[in-house]
Amino acid sequence: MNTQKLKFNKLYINGEWISAFSRETFDVINPGTGNVITGVPNAGEIEAEMAIDAASKAFPEWSEKTAQERFDLLYKWFQLIIENKEEIATILTEEQGKPYSEAIGEVHYAASFVSWYAEEGKRIYGETIPASSREKRILVIKQPIGVVAAITPWNFPAAMFTKKIATALAAGCTTVIKPAEVTPLTALKLVKLAEEAGIPAGVINAITGNPKIIGQTWLKDKRVSKITFTGSTAVGKELMRGAADTVKKVSLELGGHAPVIVCADANLDKAVEGVILSKFRNGGQTCVCANRIYVENSIMPIFIDKLRNEVEKLKVGIGNQSDAKIGPLINQAAYTKVQRHVEDAVAKGAKVVCGGKRVEEYQGGYFYEPTILSNINNEMIIMSEETFGPVAPIVGFDDIDDAIKQANDTDYGLAAYAFTENLKSTIKLYEKLEYGIVGINDGLVSLAQAPFGGIKQSGIGREGGHQGLEEYLETKYVSIGI
Ligand code: ADP
Repeated sequence: MNTQKLKFNKLYINGEWISAFSRETFDVINPGTGNVITGVPNAGEIEAEMAIDAASKAFPEWSEKTAQERFDLLYKWFQLIIENKEEIATILTEEQGKPYSEAIGEVHYAASFVSWYAEEGKRIYGETIPASSREKRILVIKQPIGVVAAITPWNFPAAMFTKKIATALAAGCTTVIKPAEVTPLTALKLVKLAEEAGIPAGVINAITGNPKIIGQTWLKDKRVSKITFTGSTAVGKELMRGAADTVKKVSLELGGHAPVIVCADANLDKAVEGVILSKFRNGGQTCVCANRIYVENSIMPIFIDKLRNEVEKLKVGIGNQSDAKIGPLINQAAYTKVQRHVEDAVAKGAKVVCGGKRVEEYQGGYFYEPTILSNINNEMIIMSEETFGPVAPIVGFDDIDDAIKQANDTDYGLAAYAFTENLKSTIKLYEKLEYGIVGINDGLVSLAQAPFGGIKQSGIGREGGHQGLEEYLETKYVSIGI
């Protein structure tokens, strides 16, 4: 990327691209090579407050626009995202590391939130309720909640941005956003396109900088009505505590520890394909990633063989290499965690079926071989901590009820997957698995029109679908005496 040409590696507040007042910047690093891509401003409290000022000022006009007016602007933004998809995907691959083909896929997925919510914003309906007397009428109306603060993660820098911002804008809210410090450029490029689409100044304000200071500034400000966050459970809990003081609405999409249950009657090719998608997409760095794979013992040898065949085909490489299927881990800390999970499992008796070490070919980045582990037991860290890397631990089971019990034995509750061709098992699985999302014979469950989110300590609220729009709306009950 020619960084001289970047016009958007700045803060975007009230329609202006500006530097931090301190003039400080921090580097954005390509995790595949270790090279610095560019610097972005290191904003703090002043800029975080300025962003709220701008969003508050823009709120009355934006919230009073008609749904059609908001549709026109959002749809223009969607078109510009699609027109510029190659450039966005290049930035995404460079700062996040994922293979370019996956980056293109993510840009389409990100754009789908903009087009879907552009439309859905036209369907913010109210209700009338029969009153208890002839002299009264009861109405229920929906109104935008106000200024929304969004904090997004690095694993899907485009999709997590549009998922929050397009929904908030369609509801009539204005926004302040802080993308993850390791991947801010994709989000800033999307903001640039929103500006080109004509979305007015102050409706989206994006800043980069110190996460804690920015987060705390937004939490304590009464003018922010809602905080929406995707990231780790630890930070989510901190934000939820901070939101209590001003009773802000929160939506949290936090960690997961997804189980996959493969029954003996499953279509094994489909199951292997599903495990590859749910485990190895984005190098295993998604919150809906399979983290425990339960396989019925009678098919264990054949399943492991088939899976190993496919896993060994996954070429590890720098994201812009055309045949790369697995990119680097995001940073040293991510690499160390994956290594610790594998070493701990091996020390406790796990067998490495394939992979299990660093890819030495690319010394500049943090590449780990796609790995399968067998002989797993519940004492291993990998069975309870989210790995966020390309490691698949396989556990045997004899009884589906026991598999479901083990699958539910976690504090997380985001996504679960199961593979079976049996109707009774299907119903049991989707009814009994304690997760917000269940994929049956399906390893790829994220879509703009479906409510995505977790239960237990995986989060609160839903993103996607009409349920996602509700998160940005207040319900007002009006009683009219006549
Ligand atoms: P991960 O460990 O996967 O990087 P984090 O939860 O640390 O996940 O990061 C997700 C997002 O939360 C990022 O945008 C990050 O900058 C932000 N973040 C991290 N710590 C805080 C904090 N204390 N307050 C507010 N935001 C934070």
